[in-house]
Amino acid sequence: MATHRLNSMEVKRMNRNAIYRYLYHRESTSIQEIAQALNLSLPTVTQNLKELQEKELIVETGLFESTGGRKAKSLACNSVAGYALGLDVTRNHVGIVLIDLSGKVVKNVRNLFPFANEESYFQGVGRLVEDFVEECGIDRSKLLGAGIALPAILTGDRQSVSYATVIDFKGGHVQRFAEYIPYPCILSNDANAAGFTELWGEQDMHNVVYLSLNNSVGGSFIVDNQIYAGKNHRAGEFGHMTVVPEGRACYCGQKGCVDAYCSARILSDSTGGSIVEFFRLLGEGQEPQRTIWEEYRNYLVVTINNLRMLYDCDVILGGYAGAYMEDYLDSLRELAAAKNTFEPDGSYLRVCKYKLEATAVGAAMELVTDFIDSI
Ligand SMILES: [Zn+2]
Repeated sequence: MATHRLNSMEVKRMNRNAIYRYLYHRESTSIQEIAQALNLSLPTVTQNLKELQEKELIVETGLFESTGGRKAKSLACNSVAGYALGLDVTRNHVGIVLIDLSGKVVKNVRNLFPFANEESYFQGVGRLVEDFVEECGIDRSKLLGAGIALPAILTGDRQSVSYATVIDFKGGHVQRFAEYIPYPCILSNDANAAGFTELWGEQDMHNVVYLSLNNSVGGSFIVDNQIYAGKNHRAGEFGHMTVVPEGRACYCGQKGCVDAYCSARILSDSTGGSIVEFFRLLGEGQEPQRTIWEEYRNYLVVTINNLRMLYDCDVILGGYAGAYMEDYLDSLRELAAAKNTFEPDGSYLRVCKYKLEATAVGAAMELVTDFIDSI
């Protein structure tokens, strides 16, 4: 192993970053607490805090109650020191969110704006973004950039699209968007972005499988807080695992894929495309929703059990459909447990935390993560 002595600049940056992260995960803290937790001297912590304060990345939030002697200052991260935009580009819509550094959604909007691989479309997206930023009324210099999530598989450098059937953008480059969005732009895969939101703020959870149940089924596998992309950036394409040999036709051209049985469309086709309405009627015990759900659930449970067997970590139900499955979680857990060789309960199964614009939020969070890494 190559040894590398850290120079003083590197040590300084590491300390500053550690201090910022310590603050990031707490509502407020004191200089003394930081010094103790990170095993740093008080002068080191004080000097770093001064620098972070000068950059307006942290703020004083008051004084702690004292048990005698001088009261300690309470400090916290300044969550409005930066913002990130997230876009969820789908076949028919463009969802846009603005989040602050804490991951809080400041504003969101969903526009009906069908994808078209032509100049006027990208120009239009640029206009939607500008109008949205205008309405947010924030200082544009604080914008870290725009994360753009696509229903597509990206190339290794994430600059362009290697495979796309849901939108006609195979071979498309990030520059097509960046031309009309005057902030740094990065591309994300939609399900990876949504999966990313589930680990946000979770200090004790590092691995997760996210099953994205949208009009097309996808997913992501996150190991050690990093998305596992696979050799060809196709890891987590759970929608094209075979659940029924020679089964129903999938849009991909194969037969029996998970997508053909578990896409949100299977449910919402009975309610004119509305997933909200489907779950409302199901809640009332109406037909045909009940029968559709029971059949859907059987394939879903097989998929869930397979994912648990593959990865042995929490499995999260996400996407438009997954977000509504809270009321059915107990029965899904029971059914999943009944299929499981090793476990008597299905508590590893959960429903996504971010129910609103999870994909757009996740795309924006990637920028915030990069920003925090750079502090
Ligand atoms: Zn398929």
